[in-house]
Amino acid sequence: MNVPLLDLKLQYQSLKSELDAAVLRVSASQAFILGAEVDTFEKNVAAYLGAKYAIGVSSGTDALLLALMALDIRPGDEVIVPTYSFFATAGVVSRLNAVPVFTDVDPVTFNIDPKDMERKITSRTKAIIPVHLYGQSADMAAVMAVANKHSIPVIEDGAQAIGVQYKDGVKVGNFGAIGCFSFFPSKNLGAFGDAGLVTTNDDAMADRLKMLRVHGSKVKYYHQFVGGNFRIDAIQAAVLDVKLPHLERWSARRRENAALYNSILSASGVPIRLPEAVYRESGAVNHHIYNQYIIRVPRRDELKAFLGTKSIGSEIYYPVPFHRQECFASLPTSKDLFPVSDDAASTSLALPIFPELTEAQVRFVAESIIEFYRK
Ligand SMILES: *Cc1c(COP(=O)(O)O)cnc(C)c1O
Repeated sequence: MNVPLLDLKLQYQSLKSELDAAVLRVSASQAFILGAEVDTFEKNVAAYLGAKYAIGVSSGTDALLLALMALDIRPGDEVIVPTYSFFATAGVVSRLNAVPVFTDVDPVTFNIDPKDMERKITSRTKAIIPVHLYGQSADMAAVMAVANKHSIPVIEDGAQAIGVQYKDGVKVGNFGAIGCFSFFPSKNLGAFGDAGLVTTNDDAMADRLKMLRVHGSKVKYYHQFVGGNFRIDAIQAAVLDVKLPHLERWSARRRENAALYNSILSASGVPIRLPEAVYRESGAVNHHIYNQYIIRVPRRDELKAFLGTKSIGSEIYYPVPFHRQECFASLPTSKDLFPVSDDAASTSLALPIFPELTEAQVRFVAESIIEFYRK
């Protein structure tokens, strides 16, 4: 049985006529830059997230870069990031000639360890970027308590976590000064190419973000500060607006797939660590949207190869934490110890979890893993 890690064609087929109509509408209008399609999507996604402002941008990476620029991060400033995330979280800091300062992550959620985070704060710390990795919120109560105590602004990297609720049901992107999201095709809400979003609940910050998106200008050709071209394409906004109403259903399907994996694998007694849903006590139903379903296993690379022989897709997110990246070798915190992140990098494996998977496919993947450890 062939089980790809992700099959975007199935989702496209299910909404083909609406998606094609949206693309053709933009094509017929030839209005590609900002405009009505972008306004409509921004209004709808802001309402969905419960944020006062949602501003469409060119990618998740640019969302993070724009957020740092909006906070006026300068050369030499320190920005705290977890060492275990997608590269963009730290890369954007270096692009402004600021210094990424690495922290370890929590052993259950893979998200920033608030205690290590507090230890890394210095007088030069100008921002903190918690990541809601794999589709589960960081411990935002703890993160915000520390950040507020030291008056350091927080940028949430919610690229993998659109729609995730934390504790009392507030969605991620509403805790820090700015929330950042990605619509890269493999995220839970994926565009037909690159796109992203920033959110804020602050009027002045929204103004600043909108200006920075178009080279720091409000009145065309008059530039208050130096920004960039961080605009979302109208065609992407039109596509995303078709998909947005289906996002909750898709994330619920991912949770069902995860629950099935969990029940089969935990009953089997094979020596693997399964993802755990934390914050369960709060009654939040959306605590995990499973952008990735991650198991931690012994003999990880052998298991991955074995699954490959059965035409089962799997992936390693992420094999090399930031403190071990060649490009960051000279940074001061690259020599620190990050035992949880190192363990995650050498044991974690992402399994197929996309909404359109069949029950038979999930069972086949789980049973193949059990077969590998019983051999
Ligand atoms: C995908 C991702 C990004 C970057 O988003 P792009 O749209 O690919 O630029 C940033 N951070 C995390 C955690 C991501 O998963």
